[in-house]
Amino acid sequence: MNNYLKIFATVQPVLGYTRSVIYDLVKESYDFIPNDLCEFIMSNDGRDVGEFLGDDYIDVIIKNKWGILCSAYEVAFFPPMSLNWEQPYLINNALILINEDGNGLFQILSSLGANPILCKYVTLVAFQYIDETKLKIVFDIIDNFPYITFDVYLTFSREINYSAVKRNVKNMVIFSADKDLKSNDVIYTSNAIEFDFISPSYFNCNVSTFAESQHHNIYYNSKIIIDENNYVINNVQSRNRIALFEPHKLHEILYLLKAENLWDLPKDQIDVCKTCEFRYMCSDMCQIIKRTDGSFFRSKECLYNPFIAKWSFEKDYMNLITCGIKCDINGLNVNTEIVKEIVKNLYF
Ligand code: SF4
Repeated sequence: MNNYLKIFATVQPVLGYTRSVIYDLVKESYDFIPNDLCEFIMSNDGRDVGEFLGDDYIDVIIKNKWGILCSAYEVAFFPPMSLNWEQPYLINNALILINEDGNGLFQILSSLGANPILCKYVTLVAFQYIDETKLKIVFDIIDNFPYITFDVYLTFSREINYSAVKRNVKNMVIFSADKDLKSNDVIYTSNAIEFDFISPSYFNCNVSTFAESQHHNIYYNSKIIIDENNYVINNVQSRNRIALFEPHKLHEILYLLKAENLWDLPKDQIDVCKTCEFRYMCSDMCQIIKRTDGSFFRSKECLYNPFIAKWSFEKDYMNLITCGIKCDINGLNVNTEIVKEIVKNLYF
């Protein structure tokens, strides 16, 4: 009898505080589901669900192709997906803040690009305007490092023909532009360069991110950030200096970065993210603060409030404090009665 429910390994239910999300890691998409359904899936995957056949939950699961009904014998044909995550690179992503002086970019890249498995991606970011001549020098430097995939984020100037200058970079984004536009593979946006902005459009719902996020912080993991003065810093906003970047000391610097404990800090351990249904697809860049008791929290409130499942741009959004939630250096304090009342008024 096909009484056994088997959820496909690449379909992962993730429980949130007020609602849940089902991640489809192959389709790279996600659907919202109620917490009841999420709990039903988590507790009945691989089990005899004969007593629930004909129920809405089973119908929804089969209709959405999240799983199948099969025999007890066939359940074993669907082993769980390994959530181990490894990469060959020492550095997954180097974020280098550049200015007009080029700040020793060639030396930094010579160190990061010394062999094909040292550094996978480099993002160059210029908060200040860089003129065309100096920009061409930057692109000349990039040409020397074919092992590295480059993204370049620049601040807009009307005097530069960015399409003509661009070469050998994957993404070139021009910020603070007059209007939003994509032209000859150059993306223009009227937004200013920001490193603490969260949006669903930045989420990555895929196997690699999901597996990495089980063990690591998907923004900080294997990341090095170097400022305009060649200092390795912890974060673009707070800019706490960790060490001066000296090419021959790369391994020592990576050791110091790892010791900061952010690489191996999944969102499951960060207040408020640990209650959020997006925690395995969100790579927000916020500074993380460690409390004296060893727990962690984001230094700034997110634009998404997972306790009421609302983004700040949505109708009826309320921030944490209005919902009776305090998250600061003293801990996370949730007034569950206030949250319950707000959620009831919003959704029921
Ligand atoms: S609460 Fe955390 S996991 Fe959720 S969207 Fe905000 S930063 Fe991302």
